[in-house]
Amino acid sequence: MNLNFDNSFVRELPADPDLSNRRRQVQHACFSKVEPTRVNAPRLIAHSREVAALLELMANQCTSEEFANVMGGNVLLPGMAPFAACYGGHQFGTWAGQLGDGRAITLGEVVNSAGQRWEMQLKGAGPTPYSRTADGRAVMRSSVREFLCSEAMHHLGVPTTRALSLVATGDQVVRDMFYDGNPRSEPGAVVCRVAPSFLRFGNFEILNARKETDLLKTLVDYTIRTHFPELGEPSVETYLRWFEEICRRTAVMIAHWMRVGFVHGVMNTDNMSVLGLTIDYGPYGWLDNYDPDWTPNTTDAGGRRYRYGHQPGIAQWNLVRFANAIYPLVDAAEPLQAALTSYAETFLIEHQKMTAQKLGLASFRPDQDDSLVEELNSILALVETDMTIFYRRLADLDSNQSAAAANDLDRAIAPLIDAYYQPESMTAEHKQRIAAWIDRYRQRLSQDAEVTPTERRARMTAANPKYVLRNYLAQLAIDKAEQGDPSLVMKTLDVMRRPYDEQPDNEAFAAKRPDWARRRAGCSMLSCSS
Ligand code: AMP
Ligand code: MG
Repeated sequence: MNLNFDNSFVRELPADPDLSNRRRQVQHACFSKVEPTRVNAPRLIAHSREVAALLELMANQCTSEEFANVMGGNVLLPGMAPFAACYGGHQFGTWAGQLGDGRAITLGEVVNSAGQRWEMQLKGAGPTPYSRTADGRAVMRSSVREFLCSEAMHHLGVPTTRALSLVATGDQVVRDMFYDGNPRSEPGAVVCRVAPSFLRFGNFEILNARKETDLLKTLVDYTIRTHFPELGEPSVETYLRWFEEICRRTAVMIAHWMRVGFVHGVMNTDNMSVLGLTIDYGPYGWLDNYDPDWTPNTTDAGGRRYRYGHQPGIAQWNLVRFANAIYPLVDAAEPLQAALTSYAETFLIEHQKMTAQKLGLASFRPDQDDSLVEELNSILALVETDMTIFYRRLADLDSNQSAAAANDLDRAIAPLIDAYYQPESMTAEHKQRIAAWIDRYRQRLSQDAEVTPTERRARMTAANPKYVLRNYLAQLAIDKAEQGDPSLVMKTLDVMRRPYDEQPDNEAFAAKRPDWARRRAGCSMLSCSS
C-alpha cells in the first residue's frame, strides 16, 4: 500500500517532548507522539469502498492482509507519523480539564490527487498519554456502531466524519456496560476514521484554559491556513469570519440531525468538530417514535441534557464555550456575540427550509407553517408514531382528497397507519386530530399550485429517508459480528448506501422497531461505555 502522506499537524504544531505513553498533563503542546499498541489477530470485518476511493486505495488492497494489519494498528506504513491530540472539554455542562485522544491515534494525513486532505485515525488503538484510567481500547459493539453510522450519515447527506474500516482485534476487552458492577469480557475492534481533520472545540478550549495564548494563536492560524484557506490569511477579521463559518456549519449540521431524527447523545464540547462534522459516534440513537425528549444515553438519563429537542440549543451553548476559548485572539465580545446570533438565524433558516422539503412545500411560510408544524409535532407525539415512516407515507398522501370529509376516521388516517406503533389503542379523539391535521396540510398544499403532485413527492422523498440506522438494526449487525459473522454489517452498510431509494428487496430494514427491541440494551438504552 502506497499512500501519499503530508502530515501538516505534526509538522506545523509543537509536540510534547515526552515520548512515553505514561498518563500525564501535556502542556505547551498540541499532541503527543504515540504508536498504536499491537493487537493479537487483526481481521477485517468490513470496509467502505467510498472512503477507500477518497484515499485512492484499490479494491484488492482493501482486502489484503497488509490492510488488516495497518488498520488494526500492527503495521505502520512509510510516511505515517502517529500521534494523539491534546484537548479538553465541557462535559455535561462543566469544564472537565484535559481529555485528549485517549484511545484514538492519528496515523497521518493523506493528500489525494485531487488535493484533498484526509486524516486517518484509528479508534481503539491502545493507550496514549490521554487515556487517564482507561485502557485505550474499543469494543466490537461500539465500533460497529461508529463504522455503520458514519457511513449512513454520509449517504443521508449529513456532514460527518467517515469510516474506512472495521477490524476485529482478536483480543478481549472488559467493560461494565451500564456501570452497575457487572463487567464482562467483549471482543475488541478498531475503526479507522477519516476526515479532513478531527480538531474539536476542545483543542482550542484547553489552550485558553491554560492561558497558552501564543499556542492558541498558532493552532488557530494553522487551522485556518490548512482547513479554511478561503477565509484569507489569519488576522483578527479572519478569526471572526472563521468563527462565523463554524457557527454556520454547526447550524447546518444540527438542522440535518433534526431532519433525519438523529440524537448524538454526548454533545460535549470535546465531541464538537470545528469543521462542522458529526463526530464521535458513541451512545447516539435514532428516533423510532417521535419524542423530542428522548435520549438514547442512559448516562444522561437524569437531566436528559442531550435529548433530541435540545440539540439546537446545546450546539449554541457549545459555541459560546468556543467563543470564550478564542476570545483572547479577538479581544472584543460584540462581534463574537453577533456570530452566535447568526448561528440561531442560520439554524432557523435551514430548519425551515428542510421542514418545507420534508412536507413538500414550495417554501416555508412562517405565518401559516409555524402553527402547521407545531400541530404536526403534537400529533406525532400524541400516540407512538414512527417519525421516519410517517414522513415517508405523507409523501404518498393523495393531496386532493379530504380526510375529515371522508367522515370515516379510519379511512382518513389509513395512508399513515403503518407509522403507528399501537394503532389499536388510538382513540376517536386521536384520529380526529390527526385527520384534521391532514386536512389542514392538504389545504396548505393546494396553495402551492406551482408544485405538481409528482414534484412534491420527489421533493419529499429526497428529504425523508426510508432507511435510517435504527438502533435495533445496528444491534442485529453487532450480534452477528460478535459471533464472528460480518455479513450483516456489510449488508446493513449496503442498504444504508441508498437511504432515499425504495429497495423492494430490503423492506425489512425499513421496518419500525420490533417489540423485543423496546427495552433491550443497545436498542433503546446505550451508555458511554464503549
Ligand atoms: P467520549 O465520551 O467517548 O467522547 O470520551 C471522552 C474522553 O474519554 C476522550 O478523551 C476519550 O479519548 C476518552 N476515552 C473514552 N474511552 C476510553 C478508553 N477506553 N480508553 C482511553 N480513553 C478513553
Ligand atoms: Mg469523544
